[in-house]
Amino acid sequence: VFQLSVPLNFLGSVYRELRQSLLDMETLFNLQKVNVTVKDVAHPRPLALTKGGEISFENVTFGYHPDRMILRNLSMTIPAGKKVAIVGPSGCGKSTILRLLFRFYDAESGRILIDGQNIKEISLDSLRQSIGVVPQDTPLFNNTIEHNIRYGKIDASFEEVRHAAQRARILDLVERLPNGWNTMVGERGMMISGGEKQRLAIARLLLKDPPLLFFDEATSALDTHTEQTLLQNINSILKERASTSVFVAHRLRTIYDSDIIFVLSEGRVVEQGTHPELLALGGLYADLWAAQEVLVGQDLTIERELEEEREI
Ligand code: ATP
Repeated sequence: VFQLSVPLNFLGSVYRELRQSLLDMETLFNLQKVNVTVKDVAHPRPLALTKGGEISFENVTFGYHPDRMILRNLSMTIPAGKKVAIVGPSGCGKSTILRLLFRFYDAESGRILIDGQNIKEISLDSLRQSIGVVPQDTPLFNNTIEHNIRYGKIDASFEEVRHAAQRARILDLVERLPNGWNTMVGERGMMISGGEKQRLAIARLLLKDPPLLFFDEATSALDTHTEQTLLQNINSILKERASTSVFVAHRLRTIYDSDIIFVLSEGRVVEQGTHPELLALGGLYADLWAAQEVLVGQDLTIERELEEEREI
């Protein structure tokens, strides 16, 4: 026993040191905004989408720092198979909701359920496998365009990759490139525009074909025409699949046809309903809409003035 206790104590201190350095790594990850404290519970179950992907937040409170809560007692239910939008003033916590759903972070208190299952008890793998995200800024790998799309489903056939690219309206671009599918992108490859990057992200998502779709202002870097075409395309895909889709949006024109719009302010849902219902309510949404319509009006006026100048 005595003989054993020495090495065990020794191991104990090694373990403590190891833990310390792991903690340091955690600090490092935190600095890079990647949270590594979220882990599987002891016997996680795989996510079972028994109701088709109903998402509910029950009194969720969360902050990145303990002294500043971003979501405060937030409750909302996103029905299965519906297209919903989350809108609200800048910084109110819209993207944070998606980060919690993806379990980059865990809520401080409250519960997040998918088809009645607390996401904390679901295996991280099965949770993340069920979700597809088109983020604001799509990370590209220093690799070929084909690889970057295939990342959505590593074992996809070339035909599947090509079809996804076609549905995301990026096929023409790829096929016009001198090196086609083998064109290198990413930091060390060809620079592609923000809009092209987002189309690539959508192709990746279509290939992965997850039951839950999240768009984080997915079409923000696109010009109005491309945005409209792509939105129509996304809408027809959504209709085919009846997947639950959540759009985080700044520009209300891109989401006004949602089944439900949740309006967030100061970390909670202050209004919810369809576009006409929210306009009739005459609250925050109506104000945001009015402000944006004025901006759109100004854009059109400026465009007209430029047009007139050109004509002169
Ligand atoms: P926007 O409309 O401007 O994109 P948002 O409503 O999506 O904003 P979030 O990105 O959810 O807002 O951020 C909510 C708040 O949390 C902001 O004040 C933001 O500065 C803060 N925040 C976001 N990420 C972090 C982080 N990793 N660490 C600390 N604070 C953060």
